[in-house]
Parts: sequence; structure tokens; C-alpha cells
Amino acid sequence: MSKSLNQWILSVAAVLIAVLVLLALTAPWLPIADPNESQLDQRLLPPLHPEALLGTDTLGRDIFSRLIWGLRVSLLVAIAATLVAAVIGSSIGILAGYARSWFDQLAMRGIDLLMAFPYLILALAIVAILGPGLINALLAIAIVNIPFFARTARGITLGLTREPFIEAARMGGQGHLSVLFREVLPNVFPTLLITSTTTLGWMILETAGLSFLGLGAQPPTADLGSMLADGRKLMLVHPHVALLPGLLIFVLVLGLNLLGDGLRDRLDPRLRGGALNAPGAATTVESIVVSAKGPETDSKQSLLSIRDLVIEFGQGAGVVRAVDGFQLEIHAGQSIGLVGESGSGKSATAMAITRLLPSPPGRIAAGSIEFDGRNLLSMNAEQLRRVRGKEVAYIFQDPLGSLNPLMPVGQQVAEAIHGAESMNRKALNEKVVALLEETGLPDPATLCKVLPHELSGGQRQRIGIAMALANDPRLIIADEPTTALDVTVQRKVLELLDTLRKNRGTALLFISHDLAVVQAMCSQIVVLKDGRIVEAGESETVLRTPKAAYTRQLIEAIPSL
Ligand code: ADP
Ligand code: MG
Repeated sequence: MSKSLNQWILSVAAVLIAVLVLLALTAPWLPIADPNESQLDQRLLPPLHPEALLGTDTLGRDIFSRLIWGLRVSLLVAIAATLVAAVIGSSIGILAGYARSWFDQLAMRGIDLLMAFPYLILALAIVAILGPGLINALLAIAIVNIPFFARTARGITLGLTREPFIEAARMGGQGHLSVLFREVLPNVFPTLLITSTTTLGWMILETAGLSFLGLGAQPPTADLGSMLADGRKLMLVHPHVALLPGLLIFVLVLGLNLLGDGLRDRLDPRLRGGALNAPGAATTVESIVVSAKGPETDSKQSLLSIRDLVIEFGQGAGVVRAVDGFQLEIHAGQSIGLVGESGSGKSATAMAITRLLPSPPGRIAAGSIEFDGRNLLSMNAEQLRRVRGKEVAYIFQDPLGSLNPLMPVGQQVAEAIHGAESMNRKALNEKVVALLEETGLPDPATLCKVLPHELSGGQRQRIGIAMALANDPRLIIADEPTTALDVTVQRKVLELLDTLRKNRGTALLFISHDLAVVQAMCSQIVVLKDGRIVEAGESETVLRTPKAAYTRQLIEAIPSL
């Protein structure tokens, strides 16, 4: 759905709910008839009657007035029930998630027990025990909704307790209560708020359901459900008596749900940026330049040729130009380093090369990217798939994040091998072991069966390198491959990468914020700042006689012993 349409719906829902809530709140002071006063000489007047705007019911009571008072009761009960369920449920959930141990076990089994009953039947059973009446109906629907809040709160809290910032708070000497209120609660709250708005719609329906069955509001008090029940018998002769409250329930619940959805999109900054919209198979390209071959460079020789690349994020007023006018030529076997501080657009460029940059929010706004004479920007998903991982391979910064945590590493390396399906098991195994051996991993045959979390950071990155090498790629793009590793391991991994590259004659685009590392690895350096190239040339020349002030800063930042 387009953004403007979404916003339009949200505004309409917000105005509608605001009007309904205002009507319900101000009911006692509105110039409307007494909702419970029956005038037997004015029974069942049709809508738009001069005496009653929306007509009257079987006892001659004004329907318009009863709708407003009924709305007041329904909203009050639903909001109160939501609050009760939210407070009790979330407290149980947060405590269970935070404390774990026996309390978690006890609470969650209790919740499981509640959830094992069909929801409405449980509410009916509770009212049957407590007796009919609005307060009891309120308690019943609050109780049946406790499990939803408890489960949601527990799930989030459980995830939070493993976060470093909670550990840091504990190390800082905060007690459990302080951690719960200052660290956990603010992080759980937005989700609970959203759960509440969606639950509110349900609660209206449930209250109406119980009242419809005669278990909620008792006469003469009207709520929307009991009005619906009153009109049911007259459905064929005087449909307005039942239709009007039915319509109001429909509009109210729809409005609340739309409002809840809109609120969620507003509250979650990731949703606002469109980040959770499933990105397409390839980065969107705005304008395809068919041939941008400059006269002076013979792109016959170069393996990868990038011209005037522009990468943008976001839409409308919030467009960020992350990369602007990027140029690059890589020849077969060459190694080029891309340096720049964090946020300078290195990763965006790297991902754009095989169109892996997620769209939305990213897109290639202009420029050309050619690999081995083929235009990558005009390729379809199928053609790109044949380039990715086979001709151009990636090594990522965080080897743990790019490996499937539940799959033995050997199997993951095997999956990276092109045509693995058609190889027999033995040959495939041998190939995997050979690849792991090449990266210097000890005892590859045993390591194959191990899960990613059982390896050290350096070992995981070697697995990443093995996967990148699996298909003898012609270009490897390594995006900060050693930033997550400690210094000694870093050196070993870099040496390995350098040796492998030289032995295989693979071209390398090496990305780092560390000029010293890039200088050791690459013959050429491109310096990027705020998405623009500030300097490019031979490593030696750039380091000895830097032209740009920014490069000088980077050189000064290299620690010397
Ligand atoms: P780095 O050089 O550290 O790898 P990136 O290429 O990841 O930098 O990011 C470059 C710039 O692109 C950032 O400064 C940011 O402004 C923008 N950017 C990156 N990802 C997103 C995103 N998902 N949404 C909006 N802007 C983004
Ligand atoms: Mg990066």
C-alpha cells in the first residue's frame, strides 16, 4: 500500500476514534434524551423521525442516546479489561523472563493451562462461576487475555536479559528492581502498548459477545452488545434496532485496529524507514546507462568497472545520498583497498556491486557497473544469481551473523559450492575438506560437523573465506573481514587472504577503516569520505605523499610503536 494512502487511512481512523471517545466521555452533558426512559406511546419509531434522530426501540427508548451511553459502557469495560490484562499479564511475563528459574516454570505452566481452554468458552465459564454482570464480564475477558500479554512480555524480556546493556547495568551496581524499571520496562513498553491497542478491539467484541448472550450488561444499562441482542428478535420487521449498534461495533473495532497498526508503524523507527518491507531480489536501479565507457580507459582489460555510481537511501523528503560519483577499475588479480571512516559508504558500495543492497530503502540512482564487460545493472535476478557467489564472492565482517547457527559448518561450505546437488557425497565431502584445509583450519574432517557457535572468531572467518573460495571466484569483496577479530588473529587471517589471492590470481576489493591494514594488503587505495572519493592511487604514493587532508588524518591515526 502506498504511504500516502496509509497515512490517509490512519488520519481517518484517528479522527473517527477521537469523535467516538469524545461522545462517550461527554455523554452525561450532551443534550440527548435519557437512554433508559421508555415512552410506550413512541415504540419502534423509524430513524430520522422528528422525535428521535435514530428512532426508538421496543420500549420507546431513544436509540441515538442509548448508542452513545452504550458506547460509553462498552469502551469503559474494554479499556478497563485491557488495562487489567496488560498490567497483570505483563508483570507476570516480565518477572518470569527476568527471574527465570522456578517462578518462570510455575507462571508459564499456569499460562499454558489458561491457553489450553478455548478462549470464549473460558470467558463464559468464568462468568458462569462469578455470575452475570458487567464487572464480572470485565474480569472474565481480562483473565482470558492475560496469557497474551504474559507471553509477549516474557519473550521480549528474555531476549533483553541477554543484551550487553543489561549486563552493563548490573555490573554498574544496579539492583534487580532498578534494572527492571530503568532498563527492561522502557524496552518492553512500546510493544506492550501496541499489543494493548490491538487487544482493545478484541475486548470490545468480547464484551459485546458476553452482553449479547445476556451475561454482561444487565437491563436497564445498555452496552452495544445488549442492544444488539434486544434488536435481534425484530431483525426482519425493524432492522434498525439491531443494525445500528452492530454498525457502531464494526466501525469502532475497525477504527481501533487501524489506529493500532498506524501507531505501530509510527512508534517503530525501523518500520518508518520501510526497512521491514521485504526487500526485492536485487537493488533497484533507477537509470540504466547502456554504455558509459570512457575514452581513456580500456575497459576490455578491467574485470570490474564502476562509473559515476550514486547510491541513495530513503524516499521523499528523507533521501540520503550515501555514495556520490564513485569510480573504480579493478583488473584481474589486482587488489584494491577501499578506506574511509564508518558511515562513509563503503558497505553500500560493496553491496551495490552485485545488487545485494536491500531495496527499499537503498537504490542505485545513477551510474554504471560492469563486470567482465557485462552490465550488472541491467541483469535480471536469474542472471545476477549466476554472478553472485560464483564469479563475485563476499566475505563479511561478522562471520557469526552470516552463518546459519543451526547448520554444521561443513554443510554450509558444501551449500556454497556451485553444482553441489549433482556431485556425489564423497566428492563433495572431499572438496569441503580441501577448502577448509586451504584456509589453514586444523583437522577439517572433524570441524565439518561442528556448529558455528562452537568455533572461535578466527575459525569462523576462515569458514567464511572457504565459502568465498568455493567456486573459484574472479573477484572477492571483503567488507571489513577482520574488524571483529582480535589483533593476532586478524594478522593471520589477512596473511591467509593475501596468500590465497596471490596463489589463485583472484582480484580483491578490500574494505577497511584501517589504512595500515589496507596498505599491507593492496596495491591501490581509494579513500572515501561521506560518499565521495577524496583520493585514489598507488598505495605507496598515497601513503607517502597524500594529497587530501582527510588522507593525512587517516595516516596520522595509524598507531606507531
Ligand atoms: P560504511 O562505510 O561504514 O560501510 P555504509 O555504506 O554502511 O557505511 O553507510 C553509508 C551511509 O549510508 C550511512 O552513513 C548512512 O547515512 C546510509 N545508510 C546506510 N544504510 C542505511 C539504511 N538502511 N537506511 C538509510 N540510510 C542508510
Ligand atoms: Mg560497513
